[in-house]
Amino acid sequence: MKLLGALLESPNMPTRRPVVDANFETNVPGLYVIGDLSGAPVVKLAMEHGVKVAEHIAAKPDARGDDGQVFDLIVIGAGAAGLNAALSAQDRGLRVIVLEKNKIANTIEDFPEGKWIYAEPDSVPAKGKLWLDGARKEDLVSRWHQIIGENRLDVRTEEGVTGVTRRKGGLEVRTAKQTYLARRVVLATGQRGNPRKLGVSGEDREKVYHRLYSPKHYHEQDILVVGGGNSAIEAAVALAENGNRVVVSYRGSEFSRLFKDNRRKLQQEVEARRIQVVFRSNVRRFDEATYVLEVEDGARTMEKPYQHAFVLIGADVPTEFLRSLGIQLENDWTGNPVAAAAGVLATLSGLWLHQPAGWALAAAGLGWLVWSALRGSRWSLLGVSFLAAYTIYGAKQAPGHEFWPYRGWGFQALSVFNRPWSFWYTVLYTGVMTVFGIQALKRWGLDKKDRFQIWRYISLISFQWIFFFLIPEYLFQAAVKYQWVGQKLASDPNFTGAAWRSYGLVYAWPLFFNTFLGNPSQVWVVWGALLSFGILPILVLFHGKRYCTWICGCGGLAETLGDRWRHLAPKGKGSTRWELMNAIVLGAAVAITLAVFAQDAWTVLRKPAASGLDYYHLIADTWLVGILPVTLYPFFGGKVWCRYWCPLAKLMNVWSAAFTRFRVSRFAIHSNDKCIACGECSRNCQVGINVMNFAMKQEELNTLNTSCIGCGICVTVCPMDVLSFQAPKPAQARLVQIQMAGD
Ligand SMILES: Cc1cc2nc3c(=O)[nH]c(=O)nc-3n(C[C@H](O)[C@H](O)[C@H](O)COP(=O)(O)OP(=O)(O)OC[C@H]3O[C@@H](n4cnc5c(N)ncnc54)[C@H](O)[C@@H]3O)c2cc1C
Ligand code: SF4
Ligand code: SF4
Repeated sequence: MKLLGALLESPNMPTRRPVVDANFETNVPGLYVIGDLSGAPVVKLAMEHGVKVAEHIAAKPDARGDDGQVFDLIVIGAGAAGLNAALSAQDRGLRVIVLEKNKIANTIEDFPEGKWIYAEPDSVPAKGKLWLDGARKEDLVSRWHQIIGENRLDVRTEEGVTGVTRRKGGLEVRTAKQTYLARRVVLATGQRGNPRKLGVSGEDREKVYHRLYSPKHYHEQDILVVGGGNSAIEAAVALAENGNRVVVSYRGSEFSRLFKDNRRKLQQEVEARRIQVVFRSNVRRFDEATYVLEVEDGARTMEKPYQHAFVLIGADVPTEFLRSLGIQLENDWTGNPVAAAAGVLATLSGLWLHQPAGWALAAAGLGWLVWSALRGSRWSLLGVSFLAAYTIYGAKQAPGHEFWPYRGWGFQALSVFNRPWSFWYTVLYTGVMTVFGIQALKRWGLDKKDRFQIWRYISLISFQWIFFFLIPEYLFQAAVKYQWVGQKLASDPNFTGAAWRSYGLVYAWPLFFNTFLGNPSQVWVVWGALLSFGILPILVLFHGKRYCTWICGCGGLAETLGDRWRHLAPKGKGSTRWELMNAIVLGAAVAITLAVFAQDAWTVLRKPAASGLDYYHLIADTWLVGILPVTLYPFFGGKVWCRYWCPLAKLMNVWSAAFTRFRVSRFAIHSNDKCIACGECSRNCQVGINVMNFAMKQEELNTLNTSCIGCGICVTVCPMDVLSFQAPKPAQARLVQIQMAGD
């Protein structure tokens, strides 16, 4: 159960978000979420959210009402997003108030004195009425106060919202002081209100803080700073510069997320012995005058005096607050797993009965699953998704060999208009890829004006149409009929009777396992060998594993249908270790191919070769490539097969890693020094790579250190234009590694 829980939770990052539609509306009608909480990582983009949501709400026919008791809009949170939303809505004639828990622009107010606020990204103009330019935080906040005053915006500070409930005709918003009614509510509460805690004894002492406001207040003191991110290190450096003796306790064994500048300043302070860094350490407790650190997994402890401690380990998304408002979060495993399993079983059993009572049972089971999935049950959605994939692939087996309960009738039942189910499967596949491919092309290519993504999606859709639909279903037959392939081949029954082998024009071994098996025409053997061991390695040399994201039909479905769930790709080291599974599948493919080739010489291999082929077909070609990954698209993103089980992806990884190791590869991703640690790149990587980690260290990301498939989405989504595809550099400059100062 623990393992299952960890697996289901693995796609969740610290940046887990509420589920919103394209207009920021949540599953609670009339309740919108914008800003940091909804994925805007910087002030400028949070401001943009504010303008967009106000435009959307103001355009609704019922946006304004006459009832003086009911506000047209209540905005919760007076940060960049909330203030800009309220100002824009007020400009459009809506009656608006802003409810703020603390003070105006509280998050920015809470930054250390004099902090410089960057107005990135440069390429995006600031939208709305709030002012934004690179400035000290004090100047920025004072301009915002001025704008609020000039626009007479009603901002009620020190009035935190405790609940929002749906009422007839609108929403009821509760604070400790009052209850308000509104037609619509925009939640812009950011993520910073919930500082992460260590949960150790003594953390509630007055001398233990979770933010540092003014380093200038501390001189000649013993201070502990806990954390390894930029906020913690900036605080430690500022305190050290002010003449304090600072210990930094960090649980990791190196700083992996520091800006270059912070890394350099820290190194200076460490060398000047004003900061001591204790890696692989955890605070065990805070006593009155000392704190205790557990170092190197408890191998030793350190007790040190302190006057102040700053625990700066980030902030948590306010999940409980959001849930209390009824807002669904990404990857919330809602619903009942047992009931969902019962629904699946009832549906399949009903189909198996194959009589009116059975059809009724199947309809009831499926109907209930769909109904509860539409009402938000994730377990039921899993059931529906499984039933769809299982039916499609279970019935696609050779007639008479379909999976239970479709055996003996499934293939036939789906073979309509004089065409077999395998033909309609290809039509369905191509249709789905086209529809969702165009959507993805718009999302990543047209909307973001990104030519790389436009061409990538055109390529994927075109390969599907030409090589995986038109050629095997029509053009191959035409080529034979009109002898485009030459008279000799066109009259060879071994060639003409196997149109399906034309999939091997693009699918290389061992993805298209049968290129070399089952007595193929020589032409396929020669082409298969050339493609698999000649053309593909050259492609890999120049483009890494881009075959997966530009050409392949399996990767194509993942990049199109699976695209909307890309952020749910399992993350973390554990999820990467599972990638070893594709080495096992590759090993099986190699062993079976060799056994089939050798069986004529060693007849003892005949039986294992035949069984190996049967099992490979069942396990790899049906369950691993079809049923399981497609079922899991909405839960773990589209790349389950490609990342965990595809033997060709593994083979390309081996080649690409070797090319990188010998410094001949032309494929890598590089970063400049502008990363703001927003996490967008890592969130959107479909193979769960922690791209941000590379970006912050400005370390080369390649196919030796990751399983990158070159989709380029990380490059596209980065708001700071940090990432770019570039050939690996000859000798990589390593960033300074911070040394531990002596105990
Ligand atoms: C260390 C650090 C440095 C940064 N530096 C920069 C930078 O230089 N440039 C940049 O562009 N971005 C920077 N950012 C990011 C920037 O702070 C955020 O992107 C931005 O503040 C998000 O705006 P927001 O309006 O969504 O949320 P916030 O600014 O967090 O505003 C949320 C508001 O909601 C209020 N609130 C919370 N709960 C409630 C409640 N229940 N009821 C009522 N009110 C509530 C809060 O008090 C707060 O005022 C930095 C972030 C950090 C952590
Ligand atoms: S690292 Fe970037 S290019 Fe590589 S797979 Fe992830 S998102 Fe795509
Ligand atoms: S590299 Fe990643 S974390 Fe850094 S700014 Fe770009 S998207 Fe954000």
